[in-house]
Amino acid sequence: MTDVLIRKAGTSGRITLNRPDALNAATYEMCLKIEAAFDRWQDDPEVSCIVIDAEGTRAFCAGGDIAQLYETGRAGNFAYGQRFWADEYRLNAKIFNYPKPVVSFLQGFTMGGGVGIGCHGSHRVVGESSQIAMPECGIGLIPDVGGSLMLALAPGRLGEYLGTTCYRMDAADAIYAGFADTFIPEAHWPEIIETLETGGSPDILTDYAKAPGDAALQGQQDVINSFFGGDRLADILTLLRQSDDPFAIATLKAMARNAPLSMAATVEVLHRLRGPSISIAKALDLEYRFTSRAMEHGDLLEGIRAAIIDKDRTPSWQFADQNVPVIAVSKMLMPLKENALHLEGKQMAQTTVAVIGLGNMGAPMASNLAQAGMNVVGYDAAGTTAQGVRSAHSAVEAVRGADVVLTMLPNGAILRAVADDIIPEMKTGALFLDCSTVDVESARHVAAQAAEHGLGFVDAPVSGGIGGAAAGTLTFMAGGTVVDFETASPLFEIMGQKAVHCGDPGAGQAAKICNNMILGATMIATCEAFALADKLGLDRQKMFDVVSTSSGYSWSMNAYCPAPGVGPQSPADNDYTPGFAAELMLKDLGLSQQAAEAVDADTPMGELALELYRQFVEEENGTGKDFSAMLPRLAARGRS
Ligand code: NAD
Repeated sequence: MTDVLIRKAGTSGRITLNRPDALNAATYEMCLKIEAAFDRWQDDPEVSCIVIDAEGTRAFCAGGDIAQLYETGRAGNFAYGQRFWADEYRLNAKIFNYPKPVVSFLQGFTMGGGVGIGCHGSHRVVGESSQIAMPECGIGLIPDVGGSLMLALAPGRLGEYLGTTCYRMDAADAIYAGFADTFIPEAHWPEIIETLETGGSPDILTDYAKAPGDAALQGQQDVINSFFGGDRLADILTLLRQSDDPFAIATLKAMARNAPLSMAATVEVLHRLRGPSISIAKALDLEYRFTSRAMEHGDLLEGIRAAIIDKDRTPSWQFADQNVPVIAVSKMLMPLKENALHLEGKQMAQTTVAVIGLGNMGAPMASNLAQAGMNVVGYDAAGTTAQGVRSAHSAVEAVRGADVVLTMLPNGAILRAVADDIIPEMKTGALFLDCSTVDVESARHVAAQAAEHGLGFVDAPVSGGIGGAAAGTLTFMAGGTVVDFETASPLFEIMGQKAVHCGDPGAGQAAKICNNMILGATMIATCEAFALADKLGLDRQKMFDVVSTSSGYSWSMNAYCPAPGVGPQSPADNDYTPGFAAELMLKDLGLSQQAAEAVDADTPMGELALELYRQFVEEENGTGKDFSAMLPRLAARGRS
């Protein structure tokens, strides 16, 4: 089942959260998919507004999916969470600033991450069952996903109260506090959504709007202001403890469940936010300072453990509530400098990339990454170097501390040997990005090894040759999780023109060997047609002029013509110096036949292409020549 349904319906871009059994908790992948949809629809003239709703009656979205954060954090991988929050916050800002109306329908629980998706749009609809809250302090975080902005803008000191108590607002409260706009009985929601899908303007919401009743929070506003006016958490707690007012007693009880460091930081964030320079970007930046440190230095792992892992609900927080040192809060909110949140583009600015294998392909790819501002260190067993790339003395030295390790190696055996050496030395949470062309088995083997060490893995073989590597126009065919693919995407954007996510680890290699089986066969077909044309007395240029614009055209003919002096520049014009070496094509054809045998696929053309390249490389001195040198080979032969 798909966790989030994304489609166009009439004039609307439609998003439906679809994990009702998990209260529609937002996973990392859901956030990425939603962001991609927002990006696509921004300039799509067919989409006039975006409508977000959720399956089931119990929740719009009860929060972010924190189980995976716990697993990675416990393994010492804090980078995963940091990437998750950075990408999630970018989505939150995108919804907030979106140039088209965004209408959300918030039934049942809308909490934490759900607020980030549902409460930043232009039209936020609540109903009878709505319960909205920012419960992050309960697990050792602070109100995030841009929620601190709404809390800071809420009347009086309501923000401090809502953030530190995790109070659940009903529809009237949520409208009063600024988390929602319109109360509409839920029975009307389906017909409203249908109208929006068929071109109706969001203005129709006012036709259905009803008064939500009195907001309990409004009635308590004065008392909330009187208790929550202090500078620090300790001031608030002191006032509450000095009182025997039932409100004070109930409030202290609610706060006793929450992480003191989180509550103290929440108060501090709201105070820093209020003022003339308040903005969503500032709110997210402050939140990210805390959340990106929360697993390593805060109470988050303990909070998740107590809430959803052991479910004992007795977390052991770092500090007692009255005794959170001011310095501890300051440390959590210190600027992150080069690791600060970037809302434009992916969170990759200070990425360190190690490139292992600086050959025909790896060297220009590494140079392009360096030129784009990444910190690139390289290593090649043959001692080759690349422009703008710092050289390491060994692969192990190169990968230490790298966020991404990119390998561009000759074959699967070498990849496995290099992986054995470098994986134990790689930083937890780093990404292993293999762009070599290797067998599917080797890709899956290294992917599993990487996972065991808490690393991400993507197999992303390329198409486009050395020309594409130098020009940054490669096509990547990638296998791996959506999260790992997204982590690699900024690199793909620098090194290539297109990246296709083909599926799980190994799927990129599967796509590559199928592509290259076609390439091997079409190159041979193109070469043998030129050889025949020669013997028929047909001029090669005329042959190119006809075929390149007729049904016999192919990449081999049009972009990589094997006849010297004909068509665009290619290795044929350089005495068949590779380019793409014949032995690499032999390797790829071998991989496709190995795979075809494993799955019992009939591939007669691939089999014949393999045999012809085998003869050429192994028996006819084809080694070291470009794979298009099949033309002089065939031209020199007769039929027998
Ligand atoms: P290449 O032979 O020029 O480069 C491979 C590099 O790896 C060499 O410089 C070699 O010294 C280095 N190397 C080998 N073992 C090593 C080790 N243990 N540690 C560090 N470095 C090591 O090959 P290439 O053309 O750059 O191709 C690289 C990969 O890209 C291959 O898998 C190939 O199939 C694939 N590919 C090549 C092309 C192309 O047009 N050349 C196109 C698509 C894909």
